[in-house]
Amino acid sequence: MTYEITGRTRLGCLLGTPVTHSLSPMMYNESFRLLGIDRVYLCFDTKNADLGALVQSLRQMDVFGFNLTMPDKERILPFLDEIDPAAQMIGAVNTVKNENGRLIGYNTDGVGYMRSVCEAGCDPSISEMTLLGAGGAAASIAVHAALDGIPALHIVNRHGRSWEKALCLAETITRNTNCRADVTDLADNAAVQDCLAKSRLLTNATSVGMSPNEDTTPIADSTWLHPDLLVSDIIYNPRQTRLLRDAAAQGCRTLNGLYMLLYQGAAAFRIWTGQDMPVEEVRKKYFQ
Ligand code: NAP
Repeated sequence: MTYEITGRTRLGCLLGTPVTHSLSPMMYNESFRLLGIDRVYLCFDTKNADLGALVQSLRQMDVFGFNLTMPDKERILPFLDEIDPAAQMIGAVNTVKNENGRLIGYNTDGVGYMRSVCEAGCDPSISEMTLLGAGGAAASIAVHAALDGIPALHIVNRHGRSWEKALCLAETITRNTNCRADVTDLADNAAVQDCLAKSRLLTNATSVGMSPNEDTTPIADSTWLHPDLLVSDIIYNPRQTRLLRDAAAQGCRTLNGLYMLLYQGAAAFRIWTGQDMPVEEVRKKYFQ
């Protein structure tokens, strides 16, 4: 299929910093090409940008939408006309749709994550979950796990920068969904072990284990991991973190963050186009 940029081609983009490593342009442009959709997607580094002015320009240029990565997922909120209820609970937006000049914000990180674990055979409605981290990605996963029916969620974070955020997140989830959420200090070994013993799903949403710190793991003792746990790490660089290697050695099933990345993109694609992203083709070409 030919794929020509014409006078009618509409623009979408990723805003944040850094953006040069992003797989999003390949993922979306290949999908537009395969489906014959006259759109193009680029990355813009916002390091030295006035985000409000930039968003106003994108609105005037009638972009079809845009994604946000760090640090703009929270900074974008005041510049939007409407925010989807789940994104409001999360307090961050990674996808914006331009609907006739109105900018509407969504958060698809947790949607993508839940699709990836469901595909790996996890039934959220019967599984207690331990979630390591309370940063941006963790908040989205926590809210979407709760909305998808996880009955109990144990948020584990160190007593640091995100501690208050973790408490607030647990309170918001328990108040607004059918999920009971609690918070545990990562340094409390007995309590962490207890959370893991009750859980069927463990998610690392901290940056511990990410390149170049590939020898680090957020779980102090790998014998706490039991074979009934699906152990997932949302890190995808490296593909197999130390946590996943330790988990496999304990007989656990494991999952890395690559499919979360693919499926959060697929969810954004559907919001923008109303169509399913050709995930199999994109997966084969860019997500091995
Ligand atoms: P973030 O908002 O900065 O949150 C980082 C989290 O990790 C916080 O809870 C932080 O705790 C915790 N943390 C950092 N260093 C730690 C340490 N040494 N010990 C214990 N906890 C530590 O970052 P984010 O955007 O949520 O991203 C987190 C990870 O997810 C990154 O590796 C990112 O690449 C990955 N990610 C993957 C996808 C995907 O699609 N697969 C999407 C988004 C993010 P404190 O704040 O209390 O320090």
